[in-house]
Amino acid sequence: GVAPCAWFGGDDWRGLRLPRRHAQHKGSFGDLWVVGGAPSMGGAVLLAARAALHAGAGRVFLRPLDPAAPPVDALQPELMIRPALPPAAALGALTVVCGCGGGSEVGAELPALLNRAGRLLLDADALNAVAADPALERRLAARASRGLATVLTPHPLEAARLLECDTAAVQRDRLGTAQRLADRLGTVVVLKGSGSVIAAPGELPSINPSGNPALAGPGTGDVLAGWIGGLWSQGLSAADAARLGVYEHGAIADAWAADHGGPTPISASTLISRLAAAAR
Ligand code: AMP
Ligand code: MG
Repeated sequence: GVAPCAWFGGDDWRGLRLPRRHAQHKGSFGDLWVVGGAPSMGGAVLLAARAALHAGAGRVFLRPLDPAAPPVDALQPELMIRPALPPAAALGALTVVCGCGGGSEVGAELPALLNRAGRLLLDADALNAVAADPALERRLAARASRGLATVLTPHPLEAARLLECDTAAVQRDRLGTAQRLADRLGTVVVLKGSGSVIAAPGELPSINPSGNPALAGPGTGDVLAGWIGGLWSQGLSAADAARLGVYEHGAIADAWAADHGGPTPISASTLISRLAAAAR
């Protein structure tokens, strides 16, 4: 049968952006920590952190898992690079954590993050670590009953690992797969790829209509994780941050393809600049 779904069209997405009021200050827009970037994976976290900053997070901290990571991002000196996470209370109150590009090292950070982060976004190797360790999966599934919100942003292979199936099975039923993961883990799920699906427990899944293969290149998923995190930190619900973030990310690629006569690749860094220029 055909699964019911809600299309998330271009008419309503702008309405999701929260206004910036005259007297607001950086404390109004949330702190965000990006954790990841194991040795040789340092770029992913920089892309995610830069994207979160341009999405409008109040303050963006970066906790690189590579001890040799530079102490400052020379191209984005607004980022605050720290050797350790803050105390539990600070993380619980106002933090979105994107665990991207962590290699195998990110698994060691996950028990604390799953327990402590008030809002948590997991991408890439953080998802692979959960898929490989049932104890981490149990901690993840326990977050919903503790009132802690989580967003997962798997591409089809990462979703297949989490569900212990193959990628073809994920792609054959993208709506059902995203909903199954959301229900099983109690999280918002963004199943990425052409027609990204956004699912949340107890809601109809949406299919994002924007985006094209200009995005099929390195780093665009890291940008998405940071962009969603940056929107979420400002006060949108997890599901709305996911829907708005996925839509805007794809819409930039659509404008790029229109400018270039087709889906010529957009680099992840250019994607961030374009997102920053278009964001209201
Ligand atoms: P990742 O797989 O983590 O590198 O993320 C790639 C990003 O690019 C995701 O946001 C995908 O949804 C997006 N993307 C890749 N290929 C396409 C495509 N053919 N159409 C639309 N979006 C795409
Ligand atoms: Mg990725």
